[in-house]
Amino acid sequence: MKLLSTIGTLCIVIFGATSVVADNIPAQHGTVALTFDDGPNPDYTPKILAVLKENHIHATFFMVAANAKRWPYLVKMILADGNKIGNHSYTHPMLTKLSAAGLHHEVIDSENVIANIAGFRPACLRYPFGASNAHVRAYIHAAGITPVPMGWNTFDYDEPGVQKIVSQAMKGVHSGAVILMHDGFPGVNRSQTLAALPILIADVRKKGLGFSAICG
Ligand SMILES: [Zn+2]
Repeated sequence: MKLLSTIGTLCIVIFGATSVVADNIPAQHGTVALTFDDGPNPDYTPKILAVLKENHIHATFFMVAANAKRWPYLVKMILADGNKIGNHSYTHPMLTKLSAAGLHHEVIDSENVIANIAGFRPACLRYPFGASNAHVRAYIHAAGITPVPMGWNTFDYDEPGVQKIVSQAMKGVHSGAVILMHDGFPGVNRSQTLAALPILIADVRKKGLGFSAICG
């Protein structure tokens, strides 16, 4: 996971000068956007939603369609609270390694699965591992979806400790920043992510910044 994320970051560096940056959707001026990938997850998504609600903020959940299909009530919970949803593929492969049929499944079938639950097609697809190329991004665009790169990585999935997640997140915090955290997959331990969240929210507010949600 870490290695793949590093590869993803390299892709962003390599393509950064061209269309990846053009596709980047910043948070509104004066705000930070929190994003949660790989869910929904029955153990952690509801708890993350509770923290967001307590703090009167909204986030964007880039969900894996296979997980959305398994727990559709979580998709509805996310939306009922006023949060935004995005597509994060059907099964979380590297989209750059897929055949045409594979790309169709991961981009189009996933949109349809999420749309059947949500009642609308997600406007954005964040490609897994930050891995994309011109062909993948053009394919996503052609489907009427905006391809979105990974946000500022908190590396919360490495479970480095609550304070380290907060300090890593804060290194990327500025007006317009998009912060990447994770609520999925099934069976993972996201207790550190959950514990870091209220501290991070308070620290962002101490910097005079608010919150907004991208892709919606
Ligand atoms: Zn992911």
